[in-house]
Amino acid sequence: MLKGKAALVTGSTSGIGLGIAIALARQGANIILNGFGDADGPKAQIEALGVKVAYHGADMGKPEQIADMLQFATGEFGRVDILVNNAGIQHVAPVEDFPPEKWDAIIAINLTSAFHTTRLALPGMKAAGWGRILNVASTHGLVASAQKSAYVASKHGIVGFTKSVALETATTGVTCNAICPGWVLTPLVQKQIDDRAAREGIPVDTAKRELLAEKEPSLQFTTPEELGALAVFLCSPAGNNVRGVAWNMDGGWVAQ
Ligand code: NAD
Repeated sequence: MLKGKAALVTGSTSGIGLGIAIALARQGANIILNGFGDADGPKAQIEALGVKVAYHGADMGKPEQIADMLQFATGEFGRVDILVNNAGIQHVAPVEDFPPEKWDAIIAINLTSAFHTTRLALPGMKAAGWGRILNVASTHGLVASAQKSAYVASKHGIVGFTKSVALETATTGVTCNAICPGWVLTPLVQKQIDDRAAREGIPVDTAKRELLAEKEPSLQFTTPEELGALAVFLCSPAGNNVRGVAWNMDGGWVAQ
């Protein structure tokens, strides 16, 4: 379904971004990977699906590196047809103890990076008459939790940004939507589970159960594969008129 399209997925060396990149590649899209850590493993995994894969290690907190990545992507594949703004970080602390440099990094990586990638990719999408922008927000784009002020602000921000871009592109073939996962068992959440186990002196499995029980009525993690399937739907012809939504996949978290 996406044969010949080029998809840039930020923060795709692990977790949700990698899950979405694999799902898009299964539909035939060529992939530009981005993120820190091992890129060779994910690159080989996606190449095995028979598509072309390139990697750029831009730090999403650095606008000039983001611009370089967009130029690189255009050089590799002609343009970016599908942009998945997924890279994200977390820090947990009460607001009065929140380190200002962590606040700045979270806003830069989780929110401002999507402004830069979008402003740079959109002209090519509009010229082509087709494009998809998917912003990986969070249930924290819809509701808040204590001790996550910067993350919640960045995710509410990206939901608002999604709506503005959706309105600006409403009469074009470009759509812009947000995906709002609940808990997904990735390195970002494993760290919160490990911290909780250490803080409360409880086994990691108990900490995991407690974390789910606090927020998710289903008591189940959402998986990168499920989020990948949602991304594929939003890229499909059936998604042509889905514009500006913040689609939660969260085991009932925000239904409460
Ligand atoms: P993860 O830690 O597994 O992956 C994050 C990815 O972003 C990695 O590839 C990492 O290398 C990359 N990254 C981090 N900082 C970067 C930077 N400065 N520049 C470039 N890449 C960078 O995390 P994840 O859980 O897969 O999170 C992906 C997205 O999903 C994030 O935006 C996160 O907020 C969101 N999210 C996660 C959950 C969850 O429960 N895991 C829930 C809701 C939303």
